[in-house]
Amino acid sequence: MLVLVINAGSSTLKCQLIETDGKISRMKFLADRIGAEQTDLTLRFLEAGVKRKAALEKASIEECLEWLLQALVEDEASPISSLGEIDAIGNRVVSGGEHFDRSILIDDEALSLIKECEILAPLHNPPADACIDHMRKLLPDVPQAAVFDTAFHQTMPAKAYMYPLPMRYYEQYHIRKYGAHGTSHRYAAQQAANLLGRPLEDLGLITCHLGSGGSIAAINHGKSIDTSMGFTPLDGIMMGTRSGSIDPSIVTYLMRRENLSFDEMDAVLNKESGVLGITGITSDMREVLQMAKLGNGNAQLAIDMYVYKIQKTIGSYYATMRRLDAVVMTAGIGENSTELRELIFAGLAHMGMILDKERNDVSGAIGMNRIISIDDSPIKICVVTTDEEMRIARETDALVNGEDATNLPADAFA
Ligand code: ADP
Repeated sequence: MLVLVINAGSSTLKCQLIETDGKISRMKFLADRIGAEQTDLTLRFLEAGVKRKAALEKASIEECLEWLLQALVEDEASPISSLGEIDAIGNRVVSGGEHFDRSILIDDEALSLIKECEILAPLHNPPADACIDHMRKLLPDVPQAAVFDTAFHQTMPAKAYMYPLPMRYYEQYHIRKYGAHGTSHRYAAQQAANLLGRPLEDLGLITCHLGSGGSIAAINHGKSIDTSMGFTPLDGIMMGTRSGSIDPSIVTYLMRRENLSFDEMDAVLNKESGVLGITGITSDMREVLQMAKLGNGNAQLAIDMYVYKIQKTIGSYYATMRRLDAVVMTAGIGENSTELRELIFAGLAHMGMILDKERNDVSGAIGMNRIISIDDSPIKICVVTTDEEMRIARETDALVNGEDATNLPADAFA
């Protein structure tokens, strides 16, 4: 089945055409800085090895989609010649609130429930909804699925997802932990089960999605039982530009001291904090590691803090689980940084997570799922490459075929 995967962010749009039978991506598209003076478009046709670049003036997300569809039918390097070849569309939707604990096929009723969730993810859900609406107009006969970042975490027990706030806030405003990165955690857990050669349902896992954003999940028998992101993705570990968990009274204190508006405070916490806040220069972990080597004290502090918060989260999840078979590292930092993995697990060996330095070394192994702990490590350490788009495509395929999209077979992915 040929699935168009649509991943709409606050100012970006990423799309892929994925052939689910062969598990291959045939086209990748990125629209960057949507709504700005100039929107940059990059389109790659993978079989033809062709890359196109274009720019649009102040383009809306709808205009970017139209540009893509036109290129798909008109460009000689495109893998398709007619839009009729697209069998289904899989949309990434950040928040499904409490309405959705799984991916769904979109009909009018589902769409109105999805739109109710906009208030929970005001930056991310509205552009996803705009794409769904527009594609319903442009390709009305093509089935569309919604795959929610929060759905995987809907299995958390109330003791994990409730905040100790007055109950009325949960009842009136649905204030609770929802988590995020669910598609990646689910995918990483399945890949780790494949690596370990055991059914996911038999395993206890802690998955660490460490990218620009970052979150950690405790997964028991294939079900998320806790995760570090909260009501929004701001909670949890230290991230590239997000603070992660801090004493909430710092927020009111700073707003009073500096007379900050709600939006300004929001920007400090989401865009100026984390690794960027401590280094003062960059959120890019490669640069931070380089700066620390050159003797920059704040870069070293950012690394120490980043590692410490991850160790504490892994340790606290281990304490709540009855069994732990493996810790799984994924996303930009988790997959690629030999150095950070070494630092993280140097502090966890006493808990039975013992890294093998040679296996951890990335040379020659980038993009390869593998076990990087010593053979006798009581708890294994795995590195897996996350592929949220592939997971979205496979779930869309299953839904369109009337199959179970939540528990895909172990060999569903490449
Ligand atoms: P997102 O998709 O959330 O933007 P990614 O999963 O691509 O993020 O991760 C981006 C992060 O991964 C950046 O901080 C980047 O510096 C980091 N990263 C990528 N490769 C390496 C590496 N070899 N060593 C350290 N950090 C890396």
